[in-house]
Amino acid sequence: MSIVSSGKLIIVAGPSGTGKTTIVRHLLGVFPRLAFSISACSRPMRPNEREGEDYYFLTQEQFKEKISKGDFIEWEEVYPGSFYGTLRSEVERLWKAGRHVIFDIDVKGALNLKKHFPEQSITIFIQPPSVETLMQRLKDRNTESPGILEQRIGKANLELSFAPQFDKMVYNIELDKAFKESVDIVSNFLGDK
Ligand code: 5GP
Repeated sequence: MSIVSSGKLIIVAGPSGTGKTTIVRHLLGVFPRLAFSISACSRPMRPNEREGEDYYFLTQEQFKEKISKGDFIEWEEVYPGSFYGTLRSEVERLWKAGRHVIFDIDVKGALNLKKHFPEQSITIFIQPPSVETLMQRLKDRNTESPGILEQRIGKANLELSFAPQFDKMVYNIELDKAFKESVDIVSNFLGDK
C-alpha cells in the first residue's frame, strides 16, 4: 500500500435496507471535512443515479482490467456478476484535498479497508431494529426484480453475522437517535468537526 496520508477513514457498513446511506448523508452534512468515496461498480446505473456522483459505472471488462492493474484498494463481487470497489485514485484525490473520507461499502470491503489502514480508520456497523423489519424494508423498497430481492435478503443475513467484528454498532430504530449516535462516534474519532 503506497498511499500515505494523515486523512482518516470512516467506514460505514451494514445490510442493504438498514438506512446506512441516509446516515452517511447526514454525517456528510454535519462534518464539512468529510468527503464521500465514490466507488466503482459494474452494475447498471439506476434511473435516479449519475455517473461520477453515485458511482463510477464500469463494464465488467473495464472493472476486471482495473483489478489486474492493481487500481483498487479493495473490491468485492457483492452480488453474483456485480463488482464494487474502492479506487486508490479516489482516496488519494480526497486526501490530497485535505479531506477525511467516508465509505458506504459492504461488510467484507469494510473490514478489508480497516486492515489496510488500521490506525486511521473506524468501522461502524448499522444494525436494523430486527431481522423482520429489515426483510420488510427490503421488500417495500423493492427497486429490483424478485430474483435480486432474494439475493439481497440472503446477503443481508450473511452481513449481520459480521457485526461483532466492527469497532462500533449503531441500531437504527429511531433515525434521530441513530443520527446522534453516529455523529458522536465520528466527532470523537475525528476530534474536530
Ligand atoms: P447498491 O447496488 O445498492 O448501490 O450497493 C450494493 C452494495 O455494495 C451495498 O452494500 C454497498 O454498500 C456496497 N458497495 C458500494 N461500493 C462498494 C465498494 O467500493 N466496495 C465494496 N466492497 N462494496 C461496495
